[in-house]
Amino acid sequence: MYETRQLKDKIEIIDGLIECPVLGCTNKLAKMKKKDVHSDEDRFKCIDNGITFSGTTWYYRSWQQNILWNADILAERILGKKAESRMNHDNSEDALTWNVFRGLQYSGTLESILEEICGIKVTVQHVFYWSTSADMGEGCRLLTMARDAFEARNGQQTEPDLIIVTDKILFVIEAKFVSNNTRINLETMQPSVLERHRKKCQNYETCGNNWFNEVFANNVHAVDIRRYELMRMWLLGSWMARESNRGFCLVNLVLHGKEVVAEKAFRNQIQEIPLNLDNGRKFVRYEWEGIYSAIKGRPGTYAKRLVCYFESKSSGYSFNRSRGRLKHAFQVE
Ligand SMILES: [Zn+2]
Repeated sequence: MYETRQLKDKIEIIDGLIECPVLGCTNKLAKMKKKDVHSDEDRFKCIDNGITFSGTTWYYRSWQQNILWNADILAERILGKKAESRMNHDNSEDALTWNVFRGLQYSGTLESILEEICGIKVTVQHVFYWSTSADMGEGCRLLTMARDAFEARNGQQTEPDLIIVTDKILFVIEAKFVSNNTRINLETMQPSVLERHRKKCQNYETCGNNWFNEVFANNVHAVDIRRYELMRMWLLGSWMARESNRGFCLVNLVLHGKEVVAEKAFRNQIQEIPLNLDNGRKFVRYEWEGIYSAIKGRPGTYAKRLVCYFESKSSGYSFNRSRGRLKHAFQVE
């Protein structure tokens, strides 16, 4: 993967062509239009550096180039079962999630991060990436049960980025990088789509013996909840926690300063219980940068590599206000 120090601080568009972002490279590439996104055409590729450049971000020839460690495990145990993956994209939140959490597992810092997030000391038992354990290759049985209770087998099913089962608390982590939480807009939905959406929401409210009423605020209906992903994670996650006699913590992992409004809106729609009480459940908005601060200065190669990753990760180029400027992904020093 390319680190910020290997990339140009500023790129120019010259005669309709755009500079390759890699430092020292003089190749000029065709500028992608919206319709070309995900294109594999040679005119968007820098042959020398093995990337396809959209003008703001790029993707690698192979997704392994975007992975810090254990690409073999990821390929063998997880990717085949995962619904969709764009791990080769520099902006991939899946690649970011894997790189950071697999690194936390290896550096022995995952438990201290979880304690930092929820305020309770926990012992990690299983970590499921997109519902599969990277260590055992097995699926998450609790999630299968929850899907069976709330969702049709042939329909779209909920797939948390991470489920971390500990001795006391079950964590569901919804990770966001450059994109925001999915937000439903009923006003702009086609009537037929809206109808389907209402039906699904109705299901979520009534399945699992009306578990919805237990964990959402009074008078809130599923269809009124704009953050549809968070709604499903909160519903299924809290149900899984209850089934396994654990507390529940839903973590919305976001970039510094992002999703503050979403946090407030969503928190108003749910019922939380302090985690030190029985059946405790809590929603936490946490920043990637918090993970960085917590591991900075930790000994060991894995922790050091991860710190370096945070410091050197880019999130592409911005053409909005700052014409063609390289963006640092994280606000870290
Ligand atoms: Zn190049």
